[in-house]
Amino acid sequence: MNYIVANWKCNPDSVKEAKKILIGYKKGIKKSKKAQAVICSPAHLLGLAKDTLKSLAAVGGQNCSWENCGAFTGEISAPQLADMGCGYVIVGHSERRKFFGETNESVNKRVKAALAAGLTPIVCVGETREERIEGKITDVVELQIKEGLKDVDLCTTKIIIAYEPVWAIGTGQACSPQEAGVVSQFIRNIACDKIPLLYGGSVNAANGMSYLAEAGFNGLLIGGVSLQPVEFNKLVANAIAL
Ligand code: PEP
Repeated sequence: MNYIVANWKCNPDSVKEAKKILIGYKKGIKKSKKAQAVICSPAHLLGLAKDTLKSLAAVGGQNCSWENCGAFTGEISAPQLADMGCGYVIVGHSERRKFFGETNESVNKRVKAALAAGLTPIVCVGETREERIEGKITDVVELQIKEGLKDVDLCTTKIIIAYEPVWAIGTGQACSPQEAGVVSQFIRNIACDKIPLLYGGSVNAANGMSYLAEAGFNGLLIGGVSLQPVEFNKLVANAIAL
């Protein structure tokens, strides 16, 4: 089973536009046991996504609080996402680490909250451009996994790890499948084979399948291109055809 996960980030800027994207998905996504599409839209659009796509795709949050409910203005909790019909939640995306103070420790708390609510956390790891230049890729990824997934079973299908080199996100400069494959092998030595591994970072319909076919990944996390339904649907179709 390959996962094709859409990360809409803070997009689009209107419900009207969101409807267009969802209708576009609906026209092209075929249901299959070989690929699971997961749409991680902004929280206010999750109900719309679920109602529009029904069983064609799962839906997921882009972050969750470690608190279940209470006086935490601006947060959305894992049980609230589960109650909306989400099966997944992205945790520790590099944009949350960079702009919102996310740390490996807070990732760990969010992962545990997600698991307790029955959600599958999609835990993002990956090095910055500077860390890559300094030769620290595996050190960074290892620490992110060891601390972010501390006291969590690393031999499970209930957690997904997404390797997203920060320098490849939104830049059009994807990491080569060869280089990403070295990191996927490294992660496999820390976490067991059961954990699905995704690649993310400037994926498009032309380059996506090489990560699945040649680099040991079990899916893709897609930002910019996920807002283009024709391209996204091609990725789902190609993953089914693999
Ligand atoms: C992302 O935001 O997780 C991502 C991979 O973005 P992009 O596909 O635009 O590089």
